[in-house]
Amino acid sequence: MHKDVAEILVSEEQIQERCKELGKELSDYYRERNSVPMLVGLLKGSVPFLVDLIKRMDIDVEIDFMDVSSYAGTNSVEVRILKDIESSVADKDVLVIEDIVDTGKTLEKVCEILRSKGAREVKIATLLDKPGGRKVDTIVPDYVGFSVPNKFVIGYGLDYNQKYRNLPYVGVIKEEAI
Ligand code: 5GP
Repeated sequence: MHKDVAEILVSEEQIQERCKELGKELSDYYRERNSVPMLVGLLKGSVPFLVDLIKRMDIDVEIDFMDVSSYAGTNSVEVRILKDIESSVADKDVLVIEDIVDTGKTLEKVCEILRSKGAREVKIATLLDKPGGRKVDTIVPDYVGFSVPNKFVIGYGLDYNQKYRNLPYVGVIKEEAI
């Protein structure tokens, strides 16, 4: 275990097993709809999850990436697009891939943007959900890997000052590392 990790919340084995289950569930869903979904990963945190998930999907998929930064304004959250998707989502089934849903404000904006580009359907798959942090009631992730308590977590894509994204598990950072 990394020296800055206080506790492992989700192990590497648990993540791999859950990706297998979600990959099957998603494949069944899109196969039934006769659809080639466009998976849109939100950079950078979703990368490990997207990579492991698509390997467990036995249907055709397309992938693209978006990079957004969100910061609190006076009354709302401003979401700035740092990198937009490159492909058209018009009339496509879009599955947004996220590392963690906390307040839900980032995804609220991202889903709004994707719908405004004409997506047929926008669903959300997130590795982690922190229901205790939710501030908007419009965002309910369709596919959740694991629910976690309202703590700051790192690993498997999630960073603290850009570090720890490469840990193969999700853990809680030690106080002294912050
Ligand atoms: P939201 O708009 O839902 O509050 O923000 C979601 C984003 O906040 C995530 O994509 C992630 O970048 C960041 N975030 C929220 N909670 C955590 C956490 O516990 N650890 C880390 N590393 N990032 C988090």
